[in-house]
Amino acid sequence: MNSPLGVTSSAKVVVVGAGFAGLAAAASLIQAGFNHVQVLEAAHRPGGRVNTTRPFGPNVIELGANWIHGQKENPLFSMAKRHSLLSEDAYSSTMCLPTSVTPQDFFFREDGSLLSPSDVEHVCALFGKLTSRAFNNKLEKKYHSKSLGHYLDEAFAESPLASSFEDAAKVFEWCKRSECTDEASSSLYEVSALQIHEYTRLEGGFFNCLGPGGYQAMVDVLLKSLPPGVLLCDKPVTRIQWGLDKEGKGQSPCCPVKVLCEDGQEFEVDHVIVTASLGFLKERAWAMFEPALPEDKTGAIKRLGFGTVDKIFLKFSERFWPEDCAGIQLVWEEGPEDNDIYHSLSEGDSWRETWYKKICGFDIVAHHPTVLCGWITGREAQYMETLEEKVVREVCVRLLRSFTGWPVSEPTQVLFSTWWSNPYVKGSYTFVPHGVNGVREHQALAAPLPYRAIYTRKKPLQVLFAGEATHVNFYTTTHGAYITGIREAQRLIDLYTDQKLNSSEDCSSRI
Ligand SMILES: Cc1cc2nc3c(=O)[nH]c(=O)nc-3n(C[C@H](O)[C@H](O)[C@H](O)COP(=O)(O)OP(=O)(O)OC[C@H]3O[C@@H](n4cnc5c(N)ncnc54)[C@H](O)[C@@H]3O)c2cc1C
Repeated sequence: MNSPLGVTSSAKVVVVGAGFAGLAAAASLIQAGFNHVQVLEAAHRPGGRVNTTRPFGPNVIELGANWIHGQKENPLFSMAKRHSLLSEDAYSSTMCLPTSVTPQDFFFREDGSLLSPSDVEHVCALFGKLTSRAFNNKLEKKYHSKSLGHYLDEAFAESPLASSFEDAAKVFEWCKRSECTDEASSSLYEVSALQIHEYTRLEGGFFNCLGPGGYQAMVDVLLKSLPPGVLLCDKPVTRIQWGLDKEGKGQSPCCPVKVLCEDGQEFEVDHVIVTASLGFLKERAWAMFEPALPEDKTGAIKRLGFGTVDKIFLKFSERFWPEDCAGIQLVWEEGPEDNDIYHSLSEGDSWRETWYKKICGFDIVAHHPTVLCGWITGREAQYMETLEEKVVREVCVRLLRSFTGWPVSEPTQVLFSTWWSNPYVKGSYTFVPHGVNGVREHQALAAPLPYRAIYTRKKPLQVLFAGEATHVNFYTTTHGAYITGIREAQRLIDLYTDQKLNSSEDCSSRI
């Protein structure tokens, strides 16, 4: 059967991963007339880094993605709108917002005293101005070779605010620690200041919340467009034999790519779209591809950063914070994002003893009046994931009691995300490290194999790469992931429509 687009339906495609990138790719191919598409997902559920749960009753808790970032030309915002999935509750769009500060954020010192809201506001406003300069590519030349952390420190030191009140530097440290959640980095001293402008913020309200179905409702829209049997869960892919050898011979006479699964099942296909996270590729790419990936691709996998951001949810039997409190923010005497402290902790393991200092604070959670959400990033988040729940619980309660002095009861439930420990994710999202050319590396990661210059044109586009980390401007986001899935599907659609290339019509396959 040929589709209205004239696409030959016989090409066989495996999509590795059922996150936004994989599901978008599969849905687009099927819509264009590809009849042999198989999505192989390692986990027992689709969604990947979207993980909508209901541990505290009927209302959702998002362990992964929470917002749709930006509106204008954001395909996920349009999709959510089209399917009436956006939250109609404007209040909820300000919940759990790691880096934006409202007058309802209570900033506490270690000794339990509250900082003046106007002092905090001035520092946060300056921090916002300085980061916007970096995001808008307006950095002075002298900062071009600096890390984001060093740029911010130097620019802050030049401001009169730095010496205007005693705690200004401590609040600024909080701002940097909080920004680590956006950058998914262990520290802003590891993030490029110059490259950050490549990340594009879409216009329109920036933090768009989803309605009662949460992010899963968006995943469900894509799942509905896949015919039964297309998605196989609990199907980890262990090996991809992709290619032509030097003599130009394929792995198989007809289908040039063989996909091997952990359970022994094999798929012989024309194309595979790999959407595994950068974190997974960092750990497993060397063992997964045969022949091995070319050097520029392994280099990109190595050089791009993939950090960990975790959320810690604490449910209490009743609210102990005032009704007008949107978040309890923790300002340390010596916080880990202070330059001297960061460098003193960079060698050795002593940072493990103070891992909890990386927690920025605890925000209230939409539709959960007695739940707080703590944010933690980097190696400290990874370390937290190794601790028993009761240890994390004790530490959080101790922090809340000592900083606020409020009567904090024992939480009735504690839940934290474990993105680093998830063997098929290994972190949260991508960042561009200091000294790395992000555009070049994202492009190298996205390039399909085999490269046409090296191999014959006969069987091109054997292995394609999609996923959040393969987008030059929208990395880190769900819409970035979605767009890359469509992009790679379109490459195949173009291949079959433009070149009328039909690679394996008489090849029997298990798909
Ligand atoms: C804590 C957190 C908060 C976030 N907040 C936001 C937010 O508010 N807004 C936003 O836009 N983005 C947010 N993100 C980022 C967003 O979730 C991701 O960018 C996006 O979901 C990535 O989609 P993806 O398809 O590229 O990858 P993934 O969602 O990681 O999907 C890849 C899939 O591949 C599977 N897989 C991996 N290896 C194999 C294998 N060998 N065999 C088979 N399957 C395999 C994985 O199990 C996974 O399901 C957040 C992420 C985290 C972790």
